[in-house]
Amino acid sequence: MRSTFLHFAPPLIGDDEVDEVVQTLRSGWLTTGDRTRRFEEEFRAYTGAPAALAVNSATSAMHIALAALGIGEGDAVISTTMTFVSTIHVIEHQRARPVLVDVEPDTLNIDPEQVEAAVHRTPGVKAILPVHLYGHPADMDAIYDIARRHGLAVIEDAAHALPARLHGRMIGAPAEGADGVPNLVAFSFYATKNLTTGEGGMLTGPPDLVDQARVWSLHGMSRDAFKRYTSEGSWRYDVVLPGFKYNMPDLQAAIGLHQLEHLDAMQARRRAIVAQYDETLGRLDALETPSVRPEVDSAWHIYLLRLRPDRLRIGRDEFIDEMRKRNVGASVHFIPIHEHIYYRDRYQLRPEQFPVAQGAFERMLSLPLSPAHSDDDVADVIEAVTDIVKANQL
Ligand SMILES: *Cc1c(COP(=O)(O)O)cnc(C)c1O
Repeated sequence: MRSTFLHFAPPLIGDDEVDEVVQTLRSGWLTTGDRTRRFEEEFRAYTGAPAALAVNSATSAMHIALAALGIGEGDAVISTTMTFVSTIHVIEHQRARPVLVDVEPDTLNIDPEQVEAAVHRTPGVKAILPVHLYGHPADMDAIYDIARRHGLAVIEDAAHALPARLHGRMIGAPAEGADGVPNLVAFSFYATKNLTTGEGGMLTGPPDLVDQARVWSLHGMSRDAFKRYTSEGSWRYDVVLPGFKYNMPDLQAAIGLHQLEHLDAMQARRRAIVAQYDETLGRLDALETPSVRPEVDSAWHIYLLRLRPDRLRIGRDEFIDEMRKRNVGASVHFIPIHEHIYYRDRYQLRPEQFPVAQGAFERMLSLPLSPAHSDDDVADVIEAVTDIVKANQL
C-alpha cells in the first residue's frame, strides 16, 4: 500500500511556467496586458476559434456569454442536471430561469430528446447550455439542429473539453452544422483542469459576440480600456454597460502560455493512463468503464467508474472510503443540480424527474487522473481498486 496520499488531480507545472511568472513579476506589469493578449491569440489559434477572450474563470466566461447574448429576466435556458453548480448559477445571476433536463446513459451528457421536449413545454426559452462532461463532447449535431429550428443560442460549458474533438473539429472552433446559431464556448483553467492557470478561463466564439463579452468582462468599458495606462492609451474611456470584473491578469496568462505549449504532451500522458485503466479495470465485472462514441476524441478530463450494485457488496460511498484507507484519492462528478437544496426547493425538483442522472450519481466515482501521476501512482490506483473489488464482489 502507498505510504503517501495520492491526490486526485495535481497540476503539472514546469520550470518555464515558473520562470515566466517571475519575469512577469519583475516586468512591472501584473494585470491584463501583453501576455494575456498573447495567450488569447495562441489559444484561439490552437482551438481554431474565430475569437477568444481570457477571463478569470469559466464561470465568468459563461456569465458574460449570457450577458452578451442579452439573456436576462423572463428568459429560460435549458441545461443539464449533471454538472457543476456554477453552470446553473450563472443563469440565476442573469435572473433567467434554468430548465434542467436528464442525460444520456452512455456519456451522461445532456439528452437532446429531453431538450426538445423542454423547448416545447417551456415559454421564453432563449438558449441551450450543454456541458461536454468529462471531456466527451455532448451530441452537438442534435443540439444545433434543435437550436436552429427554434432560433436559440448555444453556450457550451467546455470546462472539461480542452482539447476535445467532434467529427475531427476541436471544441471551441465553429462546429459542424452550427451556421446561423449564436454560439459561445467557455473553457476553465481551474487548478484541476487539463490546462491550468491556477484560476482562469477563456471564452471563444464569433468576433462580434466575443467583443460584446469583452466589454462585459471589464466594467463595461469600451474596447481596449486596459491600454489606458500605457503609452498608447489615454486617460479617457467610456462606460457603456454595468460590466463585471472578470479580466485575466498577465500573472495568470504567464502560466497559461506555457501550459498551452505542454498541452499535447500532457494529453498524451492522460491517454496513456486512461489506456491502462481501461485495460486493467475493464476486466472487472463489478465495474463499468467509460465509453467513447466513434465521432469523438475525448479530452479525458475525468475517468469515471460506475459500480455495478448487483456485483458488489458495498456502495459508492464505502468504495471511496476504502480507497482513502489505501491512500488513494477519488471524487464524484457531480452531485446533480437537483440534489442541491437551493435548486431542489426553488424549482420543486425531484430525483424521479432525472432517473438516468440519479442512477448514475449513486454508483459513480472518478479516479485520480493527471499527467503529473507516475507509472507507480497509476499502478497504486489499479491495485487499490482491484483489491477493493476482489474483497467485496458478489
Ligand atoms: C470547473 C468547472 C466549471 C467552473 O470552472 P471555473 O473556471 O472554476 O469557474 C464549470 N463547469 C464545469 C463542468 C466544471 O467542471
